[in-house]
Amino acid sequence: MKELISIVVPCFNEEEALTYFYEEINKIREQLKEVNFEYLFVDDGSKDKTLDKLRALNKKDKRVRYISFSRNFGKEAAMYAGLENAKGDYVAIMDADLQDPPSLLPEMYNYLKNEDYDVVATRRVTRKGEPVIRSFFARMFYKIINKMSKVEMVDGARDYRLMKRKVVNAIINLKEYNRYSKGLFSFVGFNTKWLEYENIKRVAGETKWSFWKLFLYALDGITAFSVVPLAISSIMGLLFCLIAFIMIIVIICKTLIWGDPVSGWPSLVCIIFLVSGVQLFCIGILSGYLSKTYLETKNRPIYIIKETELER
Ligand code: UDP
Ligand code: MG
Repeated sequence: MKELISIVVPCFNEEEALTYFYEEINKIREQLKEVNFEYLFVDDGSKDKTLDKLRALNKKDKRVRYISFSRNFGKEAAMYAGLENAKGDYVAIMDADLQDPPSLLPEMYNYLKNEDYDVVATRRVTRKGEPVIRSFFARMFYKIINKMSKVEMVDGARDYRLMKRKVVNAIINLKEYNRYSKGLFSFVGFNTKWLEYENIKRVAGETKWSFWKLFLYALDGITAFSVVPLAISSIMGLLFCLIAFIMIIVIICKTLIWGDPVSGWPSLVCIIFLVSGVQLFCIGILSGYLSKTYLETKNRPIYIIKETELER
């Protein structure tokens, strides 16, 4: 029997891009005749006609499956739903906007089939067409998180990858609510082949990531894969105690030797501000972890399905 490749595609307001995507992926399917394909589109609570498009595609082509969420749960949830429901022996994750070139699929499949790899992942080597500030912060982020976390995060890594069934199962078994896939992918390990390509502009529609959303996502990544910020706050506390201790001794000596009169309330105010600022900062770090723990303990579902192709 032929093996099955599932293509998981998270879609959020992608009505324009979907047609192009479906055409492109069909071309690839024709090149890869030795395997069967299924396309699993995950509609992440789109507000446009994405779901209608998916229903129509499903009617026309039984290879097209879809899951529609009850609201927007985010790309991480969409990817998880896709991996959980994909039936393939191999599963690929791909964006709907064709920024992840489907033309790489045959090559990826060959690596898994003929060589000793379990995952073929992709990274883009350029950030062309992206705002300069965004690239700068992205680079900083990877530098920082790789210093802080034991799990390696690859700069420029995309979510685009083809995985064997055992890898998919390993990822599905990580049921955490705060999902940071880049980290989860490297957490599970396995033999990974990296393919590189240049950044490609999306075919239609707009990016859903504002700078602020990316910033919060970066913080998610840090809290999910490192506890170093907690250690930093302890060290900062110790450091401040040390400074205070030295200052106490200096002041006692000064008073005993020169009998200094009381003075210097401006410096005192500055110190109070500095120290209370540091305290609030550390409480902030702590609450970052606490809030993640809080959400995790609630055990809420990662996504809620409104409709799938099975109901039709
Ligand atoms: N996406 C999603 N839910 C969201 C945001 C994005 O499913 O809340 C999907 C989107 O439809 C696309 C992919 O995730 O297929 C990548 O999104 P986008 O192209 O906006 O991100 P970028 O490529 O700019 O990083
Ligand atoms: Mg994109």
